[in-house]
Amino acid sequence: MIIGHQTNVKILQELLSKQQGGLSLLFWGPEQTGKKTIALGLMKGFLCDAAAWNGCGKCASCVSLFRSALHPDFMFVDAALRAAMKESGQGDAYDMKGARAIISFLDTKPIAARFRVAFIDDAHMLTPEAQNALLKTLEEPASRAIIILVTHNPGLLLETVRSRMMQLYFGLVDKKEIERWLASFSRDATLVAKAVRYSFLRPGRALNFIEHPDMVRAFENQVKMLLAFEQKRGADFGHKLAAAHAFLAQYADSGVSLFSLWQAIVRDELLAGAGLAEYASLLTKPAPQANSSDRFRFLRAILDMETAVETNPSAMKSAFEYAVSKIR
Ligand SMILES: [Zn+2]
Repeated sequence: MIIGHQTNVKILQELLSKQQGGLSLLFWGPEQTGKKTIALGLMKGFLCDAAAWNGCGKCASCVSLFRSALHPDFMFVDAALRAAMKESGQGDAYDMKGARAIISFLDTKPIAARFRVAFIDDAHMLTPEAQNALLKTLEEPASRAIIILVTHNPGLLLETVRSRMMQLYFGLVDKKEIERWLASFSRDATLVAKAVRYSFLRPGRALNFIEHPDMVRAFENQVKMLLAFEQKRGADFGHKLAAAHAFLAQYADSGVSLFSLWQAIVRDELLAGAGLAEYASLLTKPAPQANSSDRFRFLRAILDMETAVETNPSAMKSAFEYAVSKIR
């Protein structure tokens, strides 16, 4: 089931029913809003003999895709593939070697299905060289080729890449819509309310909370902790960093980003300062902060940190230090 994004889905269903290849699509927008789920629905449709959204599940193409997750006409590039390739010494899926593999895959005629489909998740991880190498393929994919790039960080893609693709933006989903959707998974109204609140309007994250209710309580504790140190005005940043590191250590695998949480808190404070506390996404009673230009500077620093860590995950420590030097 798809929630939100009705217009985008309508466009994509139209493209699928036309059965025309040569598509170069860029899906972008915040994390956990459903971009990947929708991209997979479209791709399975293009590989399916019946051209059914998400695949019919019965034709030879669908059976091979569903059973083994392997399909000769389907190329899937993501962080897991990157890790597996690195481990076996095959290089990096997001660098030049990876780009060449994508290009030759899409230039080859389909074997089992009518189309060849390449999906690149977290496309912002492509090196600039790899992006340049892909330009021609993105501008004019072969008539039987479909390439989809998905990213929550389009700023790291070259302008020349973005301008060559059909872009679809997937924004945040309406609170009420997420609430109605979650009610079909859980009858626990308190849990649903909390999952919606902590989802930051991202259905994927909300469902994660419903499936793992223990995460809600742990998350609440972390929010309180982060809030406590965030609101310590004038507190020394060494303490803030220590608290942030503790948060990260505990939440490394939960898909909860320290940065989006931090941003949400600062945004709520800004909204409260502007007399718009009812629009706060996370805090029930955000405390307005006296100096809003300070808060904007802080928000900018958090965004910069997020981009730095996105580009180079091992840069977490130095990104923090850089941010601290800017905030002080
Ligand atoms: Zn099928």
